[in-house]
Amino acid sequence: MSLCHPEKGSVSCGACCGLFNLKLRPSEFKNLLLERTTEFKSIVNFEVRHTFPIYRKERETKEAHILKKDEMTYNCPFLGYVDNAKQRIGCMIHPIFTGDPKSQNFSFYGTSICQAYDCKTKEGALANLWENLFVEIAKDSVEYSFLSADHIFAYAVEKWFSHSQLNVEDMFQTYRLELVELFRIRLQTSSEKHFTSFEINYDAFLDLGAVETYLLNELGVDWKEWKREWEKKNPNRGEVFGSFDK
Ligand code: SF4
Ligand code: SF4
Repeated sequence: MSLCHPEKGSVSCGACCGLFNLKLRPSEFKNLLLERTTEFKSIVNFEVRHTFPIYRKERETKEAHILKKDEMTYNCPFLGYVDNAKQRIGCMIHPIFTGDPKSQNFSFYGTSICQAYDCKTKEGALANLWENLFVEIAKDSVEYSFLSADHIFAYAVEKWFSHSQLNVEDMFQTYRLELVELFRIRLQTSSEKHFTSFEINYDAFLDLGAVETYLLNELGVDWKEWKREWEKKNPNRGEVFGSFDK
């Protein structure tokens, strides 16, 4: 199991399959995933190979009217619910379901890309710690995907702690409540960002000021409020902080 499909909880991520490239609201993502899953089950027979492209064509046609963030990014219709409770999302043509190691070749990306891709958060050293935190925060797989795909924000938070002279791994224990609060704030606007996980981070966050400028741009007044509360709880730490809001 991994950041994509955590062992704990009943959530999983499907961001890199292009879900959020579609300009939909969170409840509409769930309806779309349910529709895909129902249609997939009614059309695709793993023993009959031509049913895969039939399903793909039908869904691509039905979803063609949905506005996209980026026309060049593909939204794979094989992403759907993969458990009976319809809570975990994932690849409906993954070899563990089809028994065919190459079955993802029926998709636009193909088996080699589908199986090789790891987003930045997943390939990072703190992937397990982020996974546990996001499972705790997310109320469903759409929220979990918003959190997991948002690798620039997670990296900025890591850098904020390290530039504040704090042990980055400690933030998951000692400052867990504050971290949960920060990511809950982030979730309020995540749906507008349409993350695919392919976003490139052009900012190395070389000092505290650079990280704080990014966090202020991303969270606005909520960042100032979060930081004010943080400084109240951790008065000695305030001395090393930047000064944008003092
Ligand atoms: S965006 Fe990352 S965590 Fe999410 S499914 Fe893709 S590789 Fe896994
Ligand atoms: S075929 Fe590839 S892109 Fe499509 S849902 Fe499966 S893993 Fe994602």
